[in-house]
Amino acid sequence: MTAKRTPPPGALDASSAVNPVRFALSRSSHTLPEAFASRLRGVCGTVLHDDAARVEAGRDWWPLSAVWASQGRQPCLPQLVAVPSSIQEVSAVSALCNRERVPLTVFAGASGVCGASLPLRSGVSLDVTALHGISDVDAKSRTVQVGAGTFGQDLENELRSSHDLTVGHWPQSMALSTVGGWVACRGAGQFSTRYGKIEDMVTALEVVLADGTVVDTGGAYPKSATGPDLTQVFLGSEGTLGVITSVRLRAHKVPAATTRFAYGFKDFDSGLEACRRVLQRGATPAVLRLYDRTESERNFAFAGVCVLLVADEADPVMLEATQRVVDEECGEASQLGPDPVEQWFKHRNEIPDIAGLVAAGLVVDTVEVAGSWGALPAMYSEALSALRGVEGTVAASAHQSHAYSDGACLYFTFAGRPADTGRYSDAGQTAGMSPSWTPDSAAEAFYKEAFDAVTLAALRNGGTVSHHHGIGLNRAGYMKQHLGAGLDVLRALKGALDPNGILNPGKLGLLP
Ligand SMILES: Cc1cc2nc3c(=O)[nH]c(=O)nc-3n(C[C@H](O)[C@H](O)[C@H](O)COP(=O)(O)OP(=O)(O)OC[C@H]3O[C@@H](n4cnc5c(N)ncnc54)[C@H](O)[C@@H]3O)c2cc1C
Repeated sequence: MTAKRTPPPGALDASSAVNPVRFALSRSSHTLPEAFASRLRGVCGTVLHDDAARVEAGRDWWPLSAVWASQGRQPCLPQLVAVPSSIQEVSAVSALCNRERVPLTVFAGASGVCGASLPLRSGVSLDVTALHGISDVDAKSRTVQVGAGTFGQDLENELRSSHDLTVGHWPQSMALSTVGGWVACRGAGQFSTRYGKIEDMVTALEVVLADGTVVDTGGAYPKSATGPDLTQVFLGSEGTLGVITSVRLRAHKVPAATTRFAYGFKDFDSGLEACRRVLQRGATPAVLRLYDRTESERNFAFAGVCVLLVADEADPVMLEATQRVVDEECGEASQLGPDPVEQWFKHRNEIPDIAGLVAAGLVVDTVEVAGSWGALPAMYSEALSALRGVEGTVAASAHQSHAYSDGACLYFTFAGRPADTGRYSDAGQTAGMSPSWTPDSAAEAFYKEAFDAVTLAALRNGGTVSHHHGIGLNRAGYMKQHLGAGLDVLRALKGALDPNGILNPGKLGLLP
């Protein structure tokens, strides 16, 4: 298992640290004394302080980072990067930072797209990618124990070649991201309709708390009635409640058979209805993705239809039954054959050239929200019309990427060529929201307005502000409106588990 982190788009060197991005929360950065660095070296075999390591730890794949890189600006910079190679080292580093009140920000693949791993208050960045590899496979019960820093592609390669098993979690960022990152962000893979989201796959976690205590949140059993599920407490916690060091996941025999077929619907709403009916009849084809007309034409060169991709992998008996349900519920659509699905499979793990788009003067991103079936048509049309109303927008589109019996995820893509009006500070400052940063360029102002356009349409229609990318820094300002008094519960949890507030300060809307 040898995968390494892929640097985010846009080259930077340490000189960009003199031109940092101004985040609302980054004012009181810590300056660590040399004595702290030597105490850290005393408990962790690898501690880096060179510029290259600090620059790498200070950014992720948030597309705004690529905009900043093009301006020679570095979002954040930790003072030290600790690279523990064992759970004992993670525990000792955390305990030391806790005693000395030093911010500690975990990062792994740094493929997050919301700024979640940026060390907002500097301090120590904790690179957990040395905690990698499969430590146990229970072939009978089909579970696998894996180090949190294991890259996704490595996990699948090893599981398939040595054990004929798959976890079935296949995000587009398979080669860029780690198992711990999937858990910390509550991610979703492209085959989620059959295998579930990551929170459906995890059975237990090993977590190091802020004071260094090691907690195991589950055992070798499928379900339990021993109070609230502690595993789920850390799912989606984005490094703010503890450091995940090891994960137990459900696995499945590598499927014996596959099917691939595409349909063309006259409009997006009738395609959504067909997806709803398929799921509500209990059929769960691994991939069920519906593209609007704009994306159908752009991705598959089909004009005037909304393309639905259906791909499945399972026991042949299950496969046949699922295909029959899909065929019956898609009766009104035209049959497009397997080619669009084959084409999608060829490109599904490609990494977009964000730096190239930024160099061409474009600001781009994707926004994944989710809602109930009844809410999705309004969410779709309101978000797109709000996006198209943002000055500078040159492209706005969406597809349905993950479906459930009670609703689905809508995945919006926007691109803009913002005009420099010189008026940035009031852009996107939505009432009741506390922005994590104040736009100070046309690019940032456009970005914030575009992101708000989709997010507020989701909130108005009772949806969630994120389906699988998480909150990080970018979405922290929406959390109050989304969770209401629930945010106080989350704050209380944070206060109990991390009373000194050292773990990834400023993320998830947990403002100090
Ligand atoms: C091209 C591209 C495609 C993508 N496609 C998908 C997709 O299909 N589905 C999807 O869900 N996401 C996708 N993402 C987003 C990203 O890959 C995921 O959020 C991923 O789960 C992040 O994992 P990571 O290892 O890179 O975490 P990082 O980016 O390093 O960290 C993300 C957050 O998790 C925390 N964290 C990381 N490891 C740990 C740990 N061991 N313990 C505690 N906290 C931790 C960090 O503190 C941070 O808050 C995509 C990103 C890109 C760039």
